[in-house]
Amino acid sequence: MSSDLNTTYYDASRNDDTRYPHLSGNVAADIAVIGGGFSGVATALTLAERGYSVVLVESRRIGAGASGRNGGQVIAGISGEAAIARQLGDDGRRMVREIRYLGHDIIQRRIAAYEIACDYKSGWMEAAAKPSHMDMLRAHVDESHRDGCDLEIVEPERMRDVLGTDAYHGAYIDRRSGHVHPLNLLLGEARAAARLGVKIFEDSPVVEFSGGARPFARTAHGRVDAKSIVLAGYSDHAFQRGRLNGLLFPTGSYIIATEALSEATVRALNPQDLAVADSNIVLDYFRTSADRRILFGGRCNYSNRDPKDLIAAMRPRLIEIFPQLKDVRIDYAWGGRIDIVITRVPAIGRLEPNVYFMQGYCGHGVNATHIAADIVSDAICGTMERFDLFDKIKHVRLPVGRWAGNQMLALGMLYYRLRDKL
Ligand SMILES: Cc1cc2nc3c(=O)[nH]c(=O)nc-3n(C[C@H](O)[C@H](O)[C@H](O)COP(=O)(O)OP(=O)(O)OC[C@H]3O[C@@H](n4cnc5c(N)ncnc54)[C@H](O)[C@@H]3O)c2cc1C
Repeated sequence: MSSDLNTTYYDASRNDDTRYPHLSGNVAADIAVIGGGFSGVATALTLAERGYSVVLVESRRIGAGASGRNGGQVIAGISGEAAIARQLGDDGRRMVREIRYLGHDIIQRRIAAYEIACDYKSGWMEAAAKPSHMDMLRAHVDESHRDGCDLEIVEPERMRDVLGTDAYHGAYIDRRSGHVHPLNLLLGEARAAARLGVKIFEDSPVVEFSGGARPFARTAHGRVDAKSIVLAGYSDHAFQRGRLNGLLFPTGSYIIATEALSEATVRALNPQDLAVADSNIVLDYFRTSADRRILFGGRCNYSNRDPKDLIAAMRPRLIEIFPQLKDVRIDYAWGGRIDIVITRVPAIGRLEPNVYFMQGYCGHGVNATHIAADIVSDAICGTMERFDLFDKIKHVRLPVGRWAGNQMLALGMLYYRLRDKL
């Protein structure tokens, strides 16, 4: 059993143990991508598919960040859609509609094209944590129907047909969304990128980068010269400069994985094998792994301080939802950082004409990173329409350091957590 913040169930069930070299000496490429999570790997792969030469530099190992340790829920759309519509009007609404399942499509196309074994399953459900939340879910379903999406309402009295718990008060199901082993998806995409010629370097933290006439990214032992730089995903505090200053606040989210359960048990808990998230702001999320473990996550810690004992912190909530699991063993417990932006709209833009950034998916990154990668790759290729819309979004910046910002965020989220409980 492992209960530290690093050993994940995903690591223990990875199906690719490739080690990429560390960067030593000078290399040149069209594009230098910094970060080996979904943002970076999906961007590198997209650009390689379009014929660009790409170098990707990762400070630790591919998937060491949020992309290799998340809930694996492939959720429609991006966070902050309401803010996009408010700020950008019809153009924003149209874009949100058009990109809602773009990440899903990219992921599924790649799984097929590159034969990536990552246990992709269709079916995602948002469950009403309180009776009053059903109004909100019904309104969402009605609006989605107007946009041509096919979501199904589960009436409160039918909840037992879809979940072995009385904890929820109705739900909706999105059959186009679903769940996946995120690390194996990412490793498969990295493998595909490498096959297309992307040079991947691990254990190579970038310590300096610049745009201008001669863009570069530098590590302790090497340097990449490129025409454009992409800051892909949450990176060091030192990189949060210029327009990124005061924008991003990393917060903790945690997952426990039970021992492998019997077929009969998982069928009784989650007969349609759905990924589930509840409707609270500070939400729980869970799904069943391919080897029949319940992966149960949530309880975002907005102050950015990790609980001392993750199993003790997470298990009571699992048992509250599924009392029948009170005697099961917890085999893994881990956490990761979710990058929160106050407006909730992912930050996609440029620091300089040839330095792009993409980060701040607010816990909806599996789909959204692939959307962002497509948008940034389009911009690099000269198609600016969707990129320019994101670039126009006015973000709220907290003019304080990250620690103070996290305390302010924690206070705000405490309010929501109390409201969720009422
Ligand atoms: C516990 C948890 C559960 C989540 N659950 C879900 C979910 O179910 N569904 C969903 O859609 N989203 C979920 N998310 C969010 C999702 O995982 C992220 O939004 C997404 O993975 C972000 O991908 P990324 O590539 O932008 O960042 P990351 O995956 O964090 O990648 C950034 C990479 O950059 C590297 N790096 C940082 N600094 C440097 C540097 N100086 N030089 C080189 N490399 C550097 C890091 O090592 C890291 O590998 C969850 C997140 C967490 C933490």
